Amino acid sequence: MRLNMVLIGPPGSGKGTQAVRLAGRYGVPHISTGDILRAAVRAATPLGQQVSATLASGGLVGDDLITDLVRERLARKDTARGFVLDGFPRTVAQAHALDELFAPAHREPHEPVPHAPLIVVLVAVADQAIVGRLSRRRICASCAITQSVSEDSEVNADPCPYCGGSLVRREDDEPETVRRRLATYAAFAEPVTGLYRSRLRFATVDGLRHPDAVTAALCAKIEYLRDLDSAQNAP
Ligand SMILES: [Zn+2]
Repeated sequence: MRLNMVLIGPPGSGKGTQAVRLAGRYGVPHISTGDILRAAVRAATPLGQQVSATLASGGLVGDDLITDLVRERLARKDTARGFVLDGFPRTVAQAHALDELFAPAHREPHEPVPHAPLIVVLVAVADQAIVGRLSRRRICASCAITQSVSEDSEVNADPCPYCGGSLVRREDDEPETVRRRLATYAAFAEPVTGLYRSRLRFATVDGLRHPDAVTAALCAKIEYLRDLDSAQNAP
């Protein structure tokens, strides 16, 4: 059975890790827009050249360009059984473009729907929990292993338990930086989540639990939402 899935969630929610796990479990590619952009730049295709030029000028890659890249990626053979999309759609315009791919508005009534419907799952974690989680994250300056320290641990004070090197907090993980990034994300994401929230094939999982528990919850939702399809397609 196909799995056409969009995984959404704020930075620091563990969404990327979960997307990789789900792709492995269901035997479909994990398609992240970050990877697509990097691959396009590397391959220097006409679209890739546009991406390079946009990024070089410090601009954001626009809806049309990223949608073209995603459409091209979704047309490849390895998506025969579906995909897990991560990082797309980021805007309402992108969400509409994705809908158009899977349920074209101009489809004749007798024509079959070309693909299984989209399943959208939100990995929800409250901002404050993400700030806390990331503020406890340290990277070892010597061995580069990323680890979590206890809540009351002083910044840049503890030695690395693996090599004795000094543990430092990355600038990206500073509470102020994280809050700013979350606010930027929310401005884009809230309308997209709002669009999907009322749909039949939308679900939310609590991303604050252990990653294994989050994966299990995601799989349970996916299987429930996929069964909706077969129930509906039954004669
Ligand atoms: Zn170390």
